[in-house]
Amino acid sequence: MLRREVLNLLRSIHGKRFSGALPYFSKDFEVVVTRDMDLEISAIVDQYSCYISPREYFCSCMDNFIRKTICKHIIASVLKAYAENKISEFEMVNLLIWR
Ligand SMILES: [Zn+2]
Repeated sequence: MLRREVLNLLRSIHGKRFSGALPYFSKDFEVVVTRDMDLEISAIVDQYSCYISPREYFCSCMDNFIRKTICKHIIASVLKAYAENKISEFEMVNLLIWR
């Protein structure tokens, strides 16, 4: 489902966090995608609330809070939205690459 070149690109950009996000694929959590003004994705991954749009992202975990970087929960939310056909491959890559 994830093309190898896309997988490699995301892995090269996000490294350990991308690998850390992959196990969440098999976990059951709900991803909500809305398209009112912008594409917006929200989810609760483990106990952390995630939000991501083309302009901003937020997660309540320490990785995101302290390091101000995209975390594995946000990556997992976007991957899940793509896996469930709620966003396109282009949108997925766009959301995960510009950070
Ligand atoms: Zn997080």
